[in-house]
Amino acid sequence: MAKLDGKVAIITGASSGIGEATAEALSAEGASVVVAARREDRLSDLVERINGNGGKALPVECDVTDEEQAHGLIQKARDEYGRVDILVNNAGVMQLSKVEKGLSDEWRTMFNVNVLGLLYATDAAVQIMKEQGSGHLVNISSVAGRKSRATTGVYSGTKFAVNAISEALREELLEDNIRVTMVEPGAVETELATHITDEEAQEALSGILELDILQPEDIANAIAYVVTQPERVSINEVLIRPTQQPN
Ligand code: NDP
Repeated sequence: MAKLDGKVAIITGASSGIGEATAEALSAEGASVVVAARREDRLSDLVERINGNGGKALPVECDVTDEEQAHGLIQKARDEYGRVDILVNNAGVMQLSKVEKGLSDEWRTMFNVNVLGLLYATDAAVQIMKEQGSGHLVNISSVAGRKSRATTGVYSGTKFAVNAISEALREELLEDNIRVTMVEPGAVETELATHITDEEAQEALSGILELDILQPEDIANAIAYVVTQPERVSINEVLIRPTQQPN
């Protein structure tokens, strides 16, 4: 019997990168997975692959910045599979630039997706987890959630917020047997950096991207480890850097 047999996991931002790899990893552990993002075609490919490997997956087109859609995602998961055991709040955007550039549309996008999107989905999932008497929230933060640097200020602000919210949730929900984990990756080879519009910030990142950086499955494996521990074990924080990443 696989460790997550009978469990239901929702993964936001599952159309690429870490979210996609996490959906596959949790499915391989036996979970039914609900995969959410805005790009439906990418979700369909993923679901086909998971089903082809003998797993169970449901695609849900969802923009997490829309509170109703985020709540709807959690409800659809419960309607389809009857419960919600794991929520991986992974959807995220990183548009780096110095604050003085004033790219306020990008600031809003980052706070809306990385912070408010996480809160909307969490809010709905926690109600169900409390009724069930168990659950696990996995919030994808970043090394940038521990250290702010030139050009990462606003993105770091969103990830510091993720850490602050995660620790509060841990205290608020421990009596309900709901575990909370923040995962803090260093550089991972995904589409994340392709959304940076500021050339100076792109250049500042180029050195790190030339290193032997992490692959999405490296983070997915860590998440699979975290959510397959016995219920008494709550791994609260996981920091993973590429071996050669200095800070
Ligand atoms: P990707 O860009 O590959 O994936 C981001 C995912 O978020 C996509 O599936 C995207 O789907 C989804 N997303 C973006 N906006 C929304 C939205 N409004 N509603 C729903 N989904 C949305 O990057 P990663 O896999 O790297 O990023 C995953 C997480 O990991 C992020 O939280 C990121 O901050 C974090 N992280 C990544 C690191 C890295 O080096 N790659 C390092 C540290 C942390 P779609 O566009 O289809 O909606």
